[in-house]
Amino acid sequence: MRFVSFYDGADVRPGYIEDNRVHAIACASLVEYIASSPEVRRRRHTAEGFPLHETRLAAPVRPQKNVFCVGRNYLEHAREGARALGRELKLPEVPTFFTKAPTAVADPDSQLRFSARLSAEYDWEGELAVIIGRRIKDCSIDRASETVFGYTCLNDITARNLQRAHGQWFKGKSLDQSCPLGPWIVTPESAGDAQSMALRLRVNGAVKQSANTRDMIFPIARIIAELSKGMTLEPGDVIATGTPEGVGFARTPPEFFADGDSVEVEIERIGTLRNSISIA
Ligand code: MG
Repeated sequence: MRFVSFYDGADVRPGYIEDNRVHAIACASLVEYIASSPEVRRRRHTAEGFPLHETRLAAPVRPQKNVFCVGRNYLEHAREGARALGRELKLPEVPTFFTKAPTAVADPDSQLRFSARLSAEYDWEGELAVIIGRRIKDCSIDRASETVFGYTCLNDITARNLQRAHGQWFKGKSLDQSCPLGPWIVTPESAGDAQSMALRLRVNGAVKQSANTRDMIFPIARIIAELSKGMTLEPGDVIATGTPEGVGFARTPPEFFADGDSVEVEIERIGTLRNSISIA
């Protein structure tokens, strides 16, 4: 099953997709829906529907707190990063966590507007995102899969100069519209094995990243278990699971987004997140 948030005039409403139609859900937001019990959820489904191709989608969730992210979770990406920075490759023993501000979240199919004055190094990072389905703390690896509401695509867009300049990655990864999300959330029953999904990122149609989620250093269950140690995760929380090799700064020569570019993150059995880039 697929869940969306969609525009109805100026309002953003939650919905689910059935037979290529978006059906409204009688809730204030998809996060409220995710937080409710399965029985309540079912009662909120309505017959009110709109053709999917005529519906403008919003980011499926507007998280109420920062988007959780994992850095260096694919071996080849860790290797290319170390090489580009002239450092020795040291693999982490626990996941490297950082966050993106909730105001960075942007809609699928939207134009992402960045400032040319702030950076000339806007870079892509295609990632599989996990949406947490229930309130958890100290979740074991064995129970982690039960806590997932679904999966979507995410682009962890990064201003590399700011990422380097500020020591912590937060500033360079939290600019407005630097976290496009979507186009929809696919539930685990429909998504199948999340550790066996092809992931591709294209810029203007050219493949820049091509990998498989099976190559994650820390699988999703481990990420959830580590992140929830002593720290509550809540329904609708978003975890970006890391990007594979092929990011712009590590290429020879380095490549970054240019004004007018289009970018797509495609994940097998999930969908394709498309955005255009404006840099002015
Ligand atoms: Mg990332």
